This record gives sequence, C-alpha cells and structure tokens, in this order.
Amino acid sequence: MTEEYKKILKEGARKAPFTLKFFKWLKKTKPKDLDIVMGDLHSEVFDEIDCLKCANCCASLGPRITDRDIDKIASHLKRKPSAVVQQYLKIDEDNDYVFTSMPCPFLGTDKYCHIYSSRPKACAEYPHTDRRRFIQLLDLTIKNSTTCPAVCIVIEKLADHYKFKST
Ligand code: SF4
Ligand code: SF4
Repeated sequence: MTEEYKKILKEGARKAPFTLKFFKWLKKTKPKDLDIVMGDLHSEVFDEIDCLKCANCCASLGPRITDRDIDKIASHLKRKPSAVVQQYLKIDEDNDYVFTSMPCPFLGTDKYCHIYSSRPKACAEYPHTDRRRFIQLLDLTIKNSTTCPAVCIVIEKLADHYKFKST
C-alpha cells in the first residue's frame, strides 16, 4: 500500500470518534437520498483511488466463499470444485469457506487478482459503498474504514455532503 493510502487510513482512525457520531446521526435521521448520494460518492472516489496501489483488502480480509464462488473459480482454473476446496479453502468458525491463508492465494505480487473475472461475490462487492439500503451497512462500513482508504474518503465526503459537524 502506498504511503498516501496509509496516511488516509491513519487519518480515518484518528477521526473514528467523529465517524461514530456522524453514523449515529445518519441512523437517526435516515436521509431519503442516502443511496443516491453514496452511489455518486462511490463513483467519484473510485475514479481517484487505484486499488492496484493498495490491495489491502486482498492482503488482510478473508472473504466468505460460497458454493457458487467455488464453482466459478473451479471453472476459471479448469479444475474440479473439490480440488479448489482442497488446495485453497478451509472452514472457519462460522462454518463458512474462506481462503486457507491471507494474503489471498490469488493475489499476485503485481497486486492483480489472478481470478479477477471469476472472483468471489464478496470480493466484487467490497467495500459495499455502492450497495442499496446503505443505512443497514453503517456498522460494517465503520469496520471497513480500518482496512480500505476509499471508505475513509467516502465517509469524509458524506459528512461534508450533509454538512455534519460534531458537537
Ligand atoms: S477496495 Fe479498498 S482496500 Fe481494497 S484495494 Fe481498493 S482501496 Fe484498497
Ligand atoms: S480472490 Fe481476488 S479479489 Fe478476492 S481476495 Fe483474492 S485476490 Fe482479492
């Protein structure tokens, strides 16, 4: 991860108490245009952020992998689903499939995902800042702000949009 992105994460951590207050306010006021605003901010921020200079999610988070994901990966690798499970996956404490170790075995040293077109749904949806009913994802977003610099920027821009000031 670049120094610039590390700095963004550090600043996000410093502002965590502000974010908690802001999200409490969001939960209470439930702005009607939240999903539209988030969709715009997501596009704006990901036009600037270069995930290939980061890959922090692929290096540190273990995505939940569904049976459908396994089939897709197997077909991408031209292998049997059972071989994919055996080589790359384990069952975690929630009884879900996850990669046996992180960084992800499909993350290249060039930070490219070697199965990008067939990556798990959880990877494709991360960091969920453009999801519908974003109001339900506020706690998850706080968690993701400790990993993803794009989330930190989105939160900052969202607070600016609603002119939220901490008291
Ligand atoms: S989604 Fe976030 S954590 Fe993952 S590579 Fe992009 S900026 Fe980094
Ligand atoms: S499968 Fe690809 S997108 Fe998902 S964690 Fe691994 S490298 Fe990242």
